Amino acid sequence: MGIELSKELLLSVMKPARYIGGELGSVVKDHSSVDVSVCLCFPDTYEIGMSHLGLRILYDLLNRRPDCAAERVFSPWVDMEDRLRSGGIPLFSLETKTPVKDFDIFGFSIQYELSFTNVLNILSLSGIPLKSSERDATFPLVIAGGACSLNPEPMADFIDLFVVGEAEESILEIIDKLKAHKNSGKADKAALLVDMSRIEGVYVPSLPEEGRKVRKRFVRDLAKSMDIQNWIVPYIEIVHDRLSIEIMRGCPNTCRFCQARSAFYPLRILKADKVVEIARRLYQKTGYDEVSLLSLSSSDHPELEDIVRRLAEEFKDKGISIALPSLRAKAYVGELSGIFASTRKTSLTFAPEAGTQRLRDVIQKNIDIEELFSVARQAYRSGYRLLKLYFMIGLPSETREDLDGIIDLAVRLSRLKKEVDGHPAQLNLSVSNFIPKPHTLFQRHGMDTMEGLLEKQEYLRSSLKKFKGSIRPTFHDARASILECILARGDRRLGRVILDAARSGARFDAWSNFFNFSLWQDAFKKHGVCQTEYLGPKQDSDPLPWGFIDIGC
Ligand code: SF4
Repeated sequence: MGIELSKELLLSVMKPARYIGGELGSVVKDHSSVDVSVCLCFPDTYEIGMSHLGLRILYDLLNRRPDCAAERVFSPWVDMEDRLRSGGIPLFSLETKTPVKDFDIFGFSIQYELSFTNVLNILSLSGIPLKSSERDATFPLVIAGGACSLNPEPMADFIDLFVVGEAEESILEIIDKLKAHKNSGKADKAALLVDMSRIEGVYVPSLPEEGRKVRKRFVRDLAKSMDIQNWIVPYIEIVHDRLSIEIMRGCPNTCRFCQARSAFYPLRILKADKVVEIARRLYQKTGYDEVSLLSLSSSDHPELEDIVRRLAEEFKDKGISIALPSLRAKAYVGELSGIFASTRKTSLTFAPEAGTQRLRDVIQKNIDIEELFSVARQAYRSGYRLLKLYFMIGLPSETREDLDGIIDLAVRLSRLKKEVDGHPAQLNLSVSNFIPKPHTLFQRHGMDTMEGLLEKQEYLRSSLKKFKGSIRPTFHDARASILECILARGDRRLGRVILDAARSGARFDAWSNFFNFSLWQDAFKKHGVCQTEYLGPKQDSDPLPWGFIDIGC
């Protein structure tokens, strides 16, 4: 039975469209006509969650099964949380306003560690006990997937089972098993979990640890995953408000800091014909005016040029722009920039990551700086005024010379535009802090200290001040990066810290205006958990909390 949302409630919160559902492309089914109901959750706001392609893929895939109903829920914003708590209203799904606790499966997509407290807050708002050990078969099976499943241990106390790797196939097997279990009339959660643990890629933290090995799942056929029939069109603007087509999964490069490469290993490619067919079909269904070609490194797609030219031809005169968010500087990208600019002049983004060739070699960032300049020059000629550059600080072996290299590269790239039209380019410089994440070639390295990171940020900030008309640097919060590192490399001892921080009010930790480091500091102190233990380097002989996850590369 769905919850009645009063007009008063909806008008008392910001962006009520976050909670009402009913968008074009959303699916409403009668739960009494299906065998299994699933509530999919992205533990952040609607605008962020609806921008995540993985959630859209699973939603479509599950709803194509006649025996399954999949619905959505996101983190309610703080105003809605207040109303829910004060009104005693349990968190509900968007489609049928069914209380989350009435679903068979509650599935989280946890893509970043700084959303851990949101997961606990959502369980609490749903009236579901936070710890797996406190939930019996009368509660939904709480499952989680996403990038954070590459090291599930910090959240092991709260999740019944993790889907490690890509979920398109394992989620269907989970539904099959749950359906069989329900039909058998048994209400034995322990037996169900044992059965689930037999699915490849499924990790059940409550089962004995000895000799465990969990192999990451991946889909072989990307075309099948991208065969989305219904694309939800939100009523409100979301972060990535456009059609997104995943043209390649995995990455052929081997940057030593990169976790995404491991998460999406091996490389799979969507053929140009299929990309054009999907773009045409989804455009007709949605009317979107922007198509984004997603992948970890789009310029490595063997047919990218062909795809872009064919899409430009297909959508000629329709006012549709083509976006390529993750490009590496390759000569032909400069030529393609003319096509992008002819559809809509946006920005071009590149990620040199380090300021000198020496450090780029250390991190195995294979980018040709001469080629980058040549691409930038062609882009400026095509009408681009804005470049976005991504760098990291705190990388292993980094020196002051590498920081000076960042400044030098940014200044030269900005000034390059003077050759074209006499004015420097606007350059947005995003500087993040290196985090030695699990399953990367740097996983045993330590993280820079807070003081070290803050000093480097200040050096860059003050050195770039004189270019403030053209170069705009932004820096990731060093405290948030330190916490992210601890949570990413953590073990089960962190469960009580996360629980304590969430109970003390930590939520939306990825949002700078909500992040409260002192709540976390207090929680670490209270439970006697030493932060530096997780931040320092690890010897080859040290066991890794994520060592039992086999990513297959
Ligand atoms: S950083 Fe980018 S190019 Fe490098 S391995 Fe990762 S996804 Fe590939």
